[in-house]
Amino acid sequence: MNNLNILKQLSEAFGPSGFEEEINAIISNEFKSLKSFTRTEDGLGSVIFSNNTKSSLPVISFVAHMDEIGYIVKYIDDRGFIKVQNLGGWLSQAMINQRWIIRTENNDIIGISGIKTIHVMTPEDRKSFHKTNNELFIDVGATNKSDAIKIGIKPGNPIAPYSKVIELNNDRLLGKAWDDRIGCAMLIDLAKRVDDITLPYNINFVFTTQEEIGLRGAMTTAYITNSDICINLEVGVAGDFPYMTKDEAQEELGLGPSIFLHDSSMLPDKNLQNYIERIASDNGINLQYEVLAGYGEDGAMYQKSRKGIPAINLGIPTRYLHCHNSVIDLNDYSNGVNLVDHILNDLNPDKINSIIN
Ligand SMILES: [Zn+2]
Repeated sequence: MNNLNILKQLSEAFGPSGFEEEINAIISNEFKSLKSFTRTEDGLGSVIFSNNTKSSLPVISFVAHMDEIGYIVKYIDDRGFIKVQNLGGWLSQAMINQRWIIRTENNDIIGISGIKTIHVMTPEDRKSFHKTNNELFIDVGATNKSDAIKIGIKPGNPIAPYSKVIELNNDRLLGKAWDDRIGCAMLIDLAKRVDDITLPYNINFVFTTQEEIGLRGAMTTAYITNSDICINLEVGVAGDFPYMTKDEAQEELGLGPSIFLHDSSMLPDKNLQNYIERIASDNGINLQYEVLAGYGEDGAMYQKSRKGIPAINLGIPTRYLHCHNSVIDLNDYSNGVNLVDHILNDLNPDKINSIIN
């Protein structure tokens, strides 16, 4: 797969919400060789590559978020353990006994979230999961508070999971932060495909910040891009493993990209949904559906912005989201990119108008 290197690079890169600079740099570097896009950055650090050449033409925005869930340092206790504040939604049992990177002013420091050993636990304790995020601490090997300060740690330092990408069998890829580096990689891929083509509409490739802490980059970019349509690329929740049920999540790895039909933050634009379903079926791309009780994503913010922008979320099914180790299927990635590529090549002002009206 030609985009495998960029996928690996984006997954391993450091970029918790509010600290997306490294992701921004990787993406900006990929766009450097493309000639039809101009780069702008907003006040929250979101970056937009546009070819808005003709003001009379409609504007389509393709969106993905750069940030991943993480922490910042809250304080250092007297024994030198790091206490943290969440950036985004962590399940407490996913945070324990993991490796972390703390980024200080001068260097990256590796730490581990400690856990009580089984030897001291009562039979009752053994059955219960970690209860609150407040119990979490990170051990960086410091001997006391002043030692931790000496190595450069201070409140506000960002923290992200430490996790390297590994290729599993059957084109499956293990890594962190597929949410939403997969969307970022797709946008880069698509921009390269359309760089040489003159399209009958204007395009924005929008890479947002701070999605995981309340769709903040989506709010500002929805305002400045003046989009007529928003297609947001995300991860879908795969439910195809033991003890997950179809009622919780129905997507399966390897069966193609998904359309989000329902979550707690939005319903898709119906015209856009019908249009994308037709493009998928015309091109033999299998679509899955995501119907969740929770979730919230940038498309929801676009939809509520300005006069109400027709928006939809497309997802790449992912197992074990918001953890150090998540799994995707590269065939879903390719089919997702192909689907959006067909959309890009099929849209024209008439079709856009019929979606909007
Ligand atoms: Zn996401």
